[in-house]
Amino acid sequence: MIFMALMTAAQYEESLRKMNMEVYLFGKRVECPVDDPIIRPSLNSVKMTYELAQKPEYQELMTVISPLTGERINRFAHIHQSTEDLKNKVKMQRLLGQKTASCFQRCVGMDAFNACYSTTYDMDKALGTNYHEKLVTFLKYCQEKDLTVDGAMTDPKGDRGLSPSQQADPDLFLRIVERRENGIVVRGAKAHQTGIVNSHEVLVMPTISMTEKDVDYAVCFAVPVDTKGIKIIYGRQSCDTRKLEDGMLDRGNPKFGGHEALVVFDDVFVPEERIFMCGEYQFSGSLVERFAGFHRQSYGGCKVGVGDVLIGATALIADYNGTKKASHVKDKIIEMVHLNETLYACGIACSSEGHTTPAGSFEIDMLLANVCKQNVTRLPYEIGRLAEDIAGGIFVTMPSEADYNSPIVGKYVEKYLKAVATVPTYDRMKVLRLIENMMLGTAAVGYKTESLHGAGSPQAQRIMISRQSNLEMKKQLVKDILDIK
Ligand code: SF4
Ligand code: FE
Repeated sequence: MIFMALMTAAQYEESLRKMNMEVYLFGKRVECPVDDPIIRPSLNSVKMTYELAQKPEYQELMTVISPLTGERINRFAHIHQSTEDLKNKVKMQRLLGQKTASCFQRCVGMDAFNACYSTTYDMDKALGTNYHEKLVTFLKYCQEKDLTVDGAMTDPKGDRGLSPSQQADPDLFLRIVERRENGIVVRGAKAHQTGIVNSHEVLVMPTISMTEKDVDYAVCFAVPVDTKGIKIIYGRQSCDTRKLEDGMLDRGNPKFGGHEALVVFDDVFVPEERIFMCGEYQFSGSLVERFAGFHRQSYGGCKVGVGDVLIGATALIADYNGTKKASHVKDKIIEMVHLNETLYACGIACSSEGHTTPAGSFEIDMLLANVCKQNVTRLPYEIGRLAEDIAGGIFVTMPSEADYNSPIVGKYVEKYLKAVATVPTYDRMKVLRLIENMMLGTAAVGYKTESLHGAGSPQAQRIMISRQSNLEMKKQLVKDILDIK
């Protein structure tokens, strides 16, 4: 079935080809990011968000009727209308994690839209501004064109002990450097920006709550990623140059990946109609909290889906190694499942306990979303430790694919890497390389370090948990039980 507001995977790829982004990798400008062997796997992951949306069996999860346009749109461009929507978002993310074993990048825009939607509404009500209407116009455009939008929050931040306006270099937080009649000019950067090269538009938000002195830093806007002045410096990942080698085996995950980049805004002009906050510092804190809340919910889906693949790889390698009957191996796999489902339970819980906002959209339960992400900072490491335990040391000491194919030593690799006699050595090597990729290679960025720092480092969640913990109420419970006045 063809829906007007849905792009096919091929159309998505074509649409990116038409863009003229300024991307740098290994010190050189990348002529065509779509065909670059380092970047390409990350594009394939985003492409999957288009591909699955075309499949009847995933239609309910991947698409939804937009209340803004009345059309069937990709859920990644949707404003959540119910707790059902919030849960479906998490389920969709788990599905995509399962299909790609990596970060599929498109969630940051979805989370940014939802955070901006309620915040611009509140801002307009309190201050008489007209940001919400402009945001909705932009949102409809993205829904109709089925665009991938990147949400950009994290500034480089300079000296962490100083506020934006106190920095020795004023550009270390993105700021307004010029106000014109028809728009503004911004300068600064956004760091570790997920999926930027695979996005059509970037929705930029402030990174922390601010005071009156930081008024030029309280800015929210959207521009096409190939706007003049945007320079993308692609981030390295561990073992990334394996993608330049012949053969697929040593890449671990041959098809999919994620990416992050340092994105420089070198005096970028933003037209008036694309500005959604311009100096309203009082609202930068709630925008940050809401975006972080939504993205912390997201991790209760995407990391769980990637975890499913890792658990599958671990169970498969136990089969291939001949250890599947060992009781401790069985028990460790049970533990991995238990930990992974604990994360999912958090993602579903903060969605089920969601609530409506004055703007009419739905927001997650903030305490539970922060608990979700706090668990994500820990449990994937334990799941990974168990995967490494069961895989055995061979996943980091194994010879290369070139040796496997060598006319001289290939026969030895084939012979001595054989485990269960009926399992082809090459298949065993493939599974071991995938585990290596997720633990130590390109995908470790997404499964481990991003689990720790993405959507805010652990301490950021602890601050939110502390704020929402309602200790006075808990103390009162004790007083009531003990008749303490
Ligand atoms: Fe989506 Fe997860 Fe990647 Fe964030 S880390 S963009 S939630 S897949
Ligand atoms: Fe992330």
